[in-house]
Amino acid sequence: MLRSVILRHSRAFTRQSSLFSEWRRAFKSEKIEEGKGLFGYKKLSSPASFHELPVEVKSSTDSLIKELLDPLDSSRTSIEIVDDISNEICKAADLAECVRQLHSDSKYREAAENVSRDFCELVESLNTNTALYQKLKSSEVTEASRLDDVDRRTLALLLDDFEQSGVHLEDAQKNEFVQLSSDIFEFGARFQENCDRVVSIGKFDQAKYGLSSQIYSPVSNSLDRSKRKMVYNAFYRHDDQQENYLRKLISSRHELALLTGFESFAHRAQRNSLLENYENAQNFLWGVIEKCRGSFEKELAVLIDVSEQCSQQNRNGNHQASSIDDHDLGFLMHLYRESAYDIAKISQESSPFFTFTSVWKGFSALTHRLYGVRLVEKPLSPGEMWNVSGVMKLKAVDEQNNELGVVYVDVSIRPDKAVGDCHYTVRCSKHLSNGTWQMPILVLSLGLVDSRSPQWRDTRISFHSAETMFHELGHAMHSILGRTKYQHVAGTRCPQDFSEIPSNLMEYFFSDLKVMTDIIKRTDRPNDQLPIESAATLLASRHSFTAIETVQQAAYGLYDLEVHGPIAAPQIASGHMTTTELFNDIMNKAMPHVQRELGSAFQHRFHHTVQYGAKYYSYLVARASACLIWQQRFMDDPFSRKWGDCWAEVQSHGGGHHPSVLLEKILGFRPTEKELTIALSKESQHLANLDAVTV
Ligand SMILES: [Zn+2]
Repeated sequence: MLRSVILRHSRAFTRQSSLFSEWRRAFKSEKIEEGKGLFGYKKLSSPASFHELPVEVKSSTDSLIKELLDPLDSSRTSIEIVDDISNEICKAADLAECVRQLHSDSKYREAAENVSRDFCELVESLNTNTALYQKLKSSEVTEASRLDDVDRRTLALLLDDFEQSGVHLEDAQKNEFVQLSSDIFEFGARFQENCDRVVSIGKFDQAKYGLSSQIYSPVSNSLDRSKRKMVYNAFYRHDDQQENYLRKLISSRHELALLTGFESFAHRAQRNSLLENYENAQNFLWGVIEKCRGSFEKELAVLIDVSEQCSQQNRNGNHQASSIDDHDLGFLMHLYRESAYDIAKISQESSPFFTFTSVWKGFSALTHRLYGVRLVEKPLSPGEMWNVSGVMKLKAVDEQNNELGVVYVDVSIRPDKAVGDCHYTVRCSKHLSNGTWQMPILVLSLGLVDSRSPQWRDTRISFHSAETMFHELGHAMHSILGRTKYQHVAGTRCPQDFSEIPSNLMEYFFSDLKVMTDIIKRTDRPNDQLPIESAATLLASRHSFTAIETVQQAAYGLYDLEVHGPIAAPQIASGHMTTTELFNDIMNKAMPHVQRELGSAFQHRFHHTVQYGAKYYSYLVARASACLIWQQRFMDDPFSRKWGDCWAEVQSHGGGHHPSVLLEKILGFRPTEKELTIALSKESQHLANLDAVTV
């Protein structure tokens, strides 16, 4: 159960509508103590206090396990008790993980790391507790009359998590399962370590291209085409060691899938997903590539034109290119944007409008209009967060001032902080036995401002960072709106193809001219409006080449699916095919006019193969779903309260229902892979009308 459980990571409206009655039911969130100590927990007031956490968790889980296995009365179902066990562990382990990654004081980070190990051991022992598993498994039958749809779905998801550790298998199979799982972890970790390896450059090439002895990235924006090509190809050159790790990872995953009764790992990975099976995922991805082909070619023609203007042959008038090199795509897009949009000037004009404060306030203004939830800044008590500037506390409140959740935001750039923009669920919503809801606590970590600056709130941020803030705040709002009976399915604890929908939808709102000019206000001059021309230009530049990016993402998704699929995986495992051959084969079919070097192996640096394992495409499914919701419900009326309320209600269910059931609530139908494909192709046609430029 509990490994993935742990690591997985209300209101009353005045306007009435019976459709959303359940969501509208007035609720009371529990009051959280507001004292000294991290996140308001009085007990966590020093690094030493962390040592108490595992002791407390062990004691409370022990008594819950006793209640489960040896019930004095049968008033609670097994699933309710197991969700409580999971909640006790998650509340402590998720908090420790966040502190381990973000705290500014190394003593806190070390203390959190130490207790994290204790939690891992506790989880490991519960994962393999056969009595616990069997009790839960048998409750599917013995407690059937007391279970509703949400109970049954949560129970199935929990059992599935348990079974990830092989607890349900016979002894002989269990040993094999444990060995394969450990190989998958081992080879996955080695592969990932090597993904960001630096490349050494020989003396000759250093002198010829003016390069240093090592390169860290495939990007060179040099005007010298041969230098760009050299850097790109050196960075992505096929690497035998990486191929070896990848082959072992793929073959272990394939064997594990066969052992557990699946045709391939790609089949196994689709359990509980929106598209439901391998074939639908395959059709979706090829469908995206085919349906976006026209727009893709239009965008490519623009880049070929830019390329020709740059090349010597064209100046002599004797060469007409019909294709473009893979290594030049990024560079030519960059050149086009510079020439077509005068981005430097526009960014300068619009920059006073995009500050950390103006963006979170803009987000709050949007959710307030959509479903009546605002974010309000509250002072931090001493010790409630790490002691640096660039950290603040926001409370989410409804129209009756009920508190729905707390979001701590850490936007400072510090060397000791985990890199990457992300959000941590320190505690998620859950219906408690006293009738209140557990108050969700989230932490958003973004690298936006210099923590030494006293004016950090008004630091100007890039357009791209503003969009990222909307994405991450979208995740936080999903957790805040969560009103599920079980914490196991609260908020973002749902399949990834659904959990990325709310955040992607927020990007669609952000990218709408009317929404952006309405909600983004200068904090120093609130009456000034972002000039519509500047906003339009920023958005046009941001969304130029959307079709190329979409097709590229679909091709990466296809590679990740097929490398784990029934045809390629056995071939790769036996050494009859390399991942480089598979990758280039897919890329050549998906992007036929983009020339690639035969030995180029982008996939040797593609971390996501390890994390997603045949589900990388889920991000694209989420984007397609968000695109469909946007087109059907908000594009014509982006501040629609009716659909805003409906969307808030959908989010409140977290992962308590299958994603297609939730999408039906907002769309009125369950979208098939075809409808999702069409949404993306419509978007790419709309955006692919780029004018030619002179560079
Ligand atoms: Zn996301």
